[in-house]
Amino acid sequence: MQYTIIGGGVQGLSTGILLQYIGHDTKIVSDTFAYVDGSDTPTVATNYAAASVYPVQIESAYSEDELIELAESTFEPFYQTDGIPVRKHTHYYLYEEPRAEPIPARMEVQDIAAYEGNAPSRPGRRVRDGYACKEYFVEMPEYVPLLYAAYEALGGETERRTLAAGEVDELPGEAVFNCSGYGSRVLFGDDSMTAIKGHILEVPYDGDAPLPFSYTYTPAEYGHYVYMYPRKESVLFGGSYLRGDIVDGEWRGETPETPTTIDGETIPERLYTVNEAITSEYVDVNRADVSVKYGYRPYRAAGMRVEAEGDIVHNYGHGGSGVSMSWWSALEAVGYVDDVSESLLADVAETIARTPKT
Ligand SMILES: Cc1cc2nc3c(=O)[nH]c(=O)nc-3n(C[C@H](O)[C@H](O)[C@H](O)COP(=O)(O)OP(=O)(O)OC[C@H]3O[C@@H](n4cnc5c(N)ncnc54)[C@H](O)[C@@H]3O)c2cc1C
Repeated sequence: MQYTIIGGGVQGLSTGILLQYIGHDTKIVSDTFAYVDGSDTPTVATNYAAASVYPVQIESAYSEDELIELAESTFEPFYQTDGIPVRKHTHYYLYEEPRAEPIPARMEVQDIAAYEGNAPSRPGRRVRDGYACKEYFVEMPEYVPLLYAAYEALGGETERRTLAAGEVDELPGEAVFNCSGYGSRVLFGDDSMTAIKGHILEVPYDGDAPLPFSYTYTPAEYGHYVYMYPRKESVLFGGSYLRGDIVDGEWRGETPETPTTIDGETIPERLYTVNEAITSEYVDVNRADVSVKYGYRPYRAAGMRVEAEGDIVHNYGHGGSGVSMSWWSALEAVGYVDDVSESLLADVAETIARTPKT
């Protein structure tokens, strides 16, 4: 069968790969393709994902523990396959104050009170709660171009074009897969979509191997956490979630309560100060060398949408979890037009890993 996919982010590419892999003919139509057309277009959320395989800022009928299980089990084959840039490292989820919530069902999770290793912390502060676990982590600057190359190697076609709402009905194929992320607000009139702004601070790093851990850390005097994730050639600081929408091409929304300016961008001050205090023990952090960019998480208040409506199969609205849920969502979406099961993913991962390097 022939299908059109709208959107060149992680959902469009994963869905396209799966459709091609099982023998369909597809074309992805997108105004921009993540990473391949540059990595700083804020409306293409995929460019900004750190990306940990851990669902956050997503609405769903599934519980948090169920989402974790779906994300981890569908990423496991990609971690197990040589040549796919997915690592597993230790993640610390830490609080400077005691808390009441239960510990989620994450990989090899341990209460921090019983943890025998050295958890990161701010100098002079004590960690009083939290846990350590294992986490899959995706090296996005390698992973997304690899998905694009694999999609093309499987025979998938691409077209760079901005679609207007009225043009969707004219797209060729038995069905159209809508992977347009925040674009669904305009293309499909979905007013429940918001664009949650998130900053990524990138600190240069030239160690022989990426730092072997990441953290999510809630300092006592702030109402929200910060996070640190290690890439091969940089260390990422983040943790901002500013609600807003894009109106007439301009993002309008919340401003940071306690701002500071780095690299010309106004960011919540804790993203730099708290992360710098913790990470300086492992990496040289020099404020003048930090670059800042921001993207918009495609958050859907009505819940991530993976469902068929007539001859449209929707696959969007994954908020801060679009990478984590990408293979699960692709399976669900493709399941509306053909028989697929999770057991396919090991072969899909092998096929992607064997994509000729260009
Ligand atoms: C700072 C930040 C950190 C994040 N960290 C993580 C993380 O650690 N783990 C995780 O799982 N997720 C993370 N996310 C969330 C993740 O990035 C998104 O959920 C995911 O990328 C969404 O993918 P998508 O393909 O649905 O949307 P997008 O990547 O936004 O892609 C949508 C595509 O549709 C195209 N499009 C839209 N409208 C049109 C139109 N009218 N015509 C043609 N093309 C159109 C766009 O050009 C784009 O290519 C993070 C997001 C941000 C901003």
